Amino acid sequence: MLDSVKGFGLTFATMFRRVATEQYPYDVKPTAPRYHGRHVLNRHPDGLEKCVGCELCAWACPADAIYVEGGDNTEDRRFSPGERYGAVYQINYARCIFCGLCIEACPTRSLTMSNEYELASDSRQDLIFTKTELLAPLLPGMEAPPHPMRLGDTEDYYVGAMRNPGASAGAETPQTSDDAESNLPHSGLQDPAVTGGRQVQPTGEPGAAERTP
Ligand code: SF4
Ligand code: SF4
Repeated sequence: MLDSVKGFGLTFATMFRRVATEQYPYDVKPTAPRYHGRHVLNRHPDGLEKCVGCELCAWACPADAIYVEGGDNTEDRRFSPGERYGAVYQINYARCIFCGLCIEACPTRSLTMSNEYELASDSRQDLIFTKTELLAPLLPGMEAPPHPMRLGDTEDYYVGAMRNPGASAGAETPQTSDDAESNLPHSGLQDPAVTGGRQVQPTGEPGAAERTP
């Protein structure tokens, strides 16, 4: 008898506690700013790809989730500055554990991670993302490769590459006062047409506003 009264007491007390249920997917909460979500292959400000097909990300991956095949650029058919580009690029999200080691290994800051986490699928094939899905969208002023280097010689592309030029899709550094205030990077990934209305924020190297003194 005493136990059942205790049980009802617990039920009664719980009725007045704050509800913890989240109404996902109708109410999608933003993630932590540096949440490791879907990868992004970034571009230079003229639209050329930052990936040089070096495969360092694939070698760094503990889950063997990345497959890269490099290709040779020619003056007539150029996808990235320099000699090589990522001709084939795949990430298998059935294997990926979102550890971020691949983005640490990338020497050109081509590969970063967004906050997007809605990746579930009932098809293993659909969980293999190719360059088509991973490449950052073209921002205004960018031109779809192949095309010649519009910014000058090769060195111009990689000056400050670890901090990403601001026009690059997926860049971490806030570029406008609005971006700086909201701590959001200037990126096509914030375009609702691209994200389906979700906030998608690249992670990895922290932007200036994210750094603590
Ligand atoms: S986040 Fe980790 S597991 Fe996923 S592709 Fe990168 S290195 Fe591999
Ligand atoms: S994403 Fe980076 S590490 Fe991976 S192949 Fe391209 S340039 Fe190399």
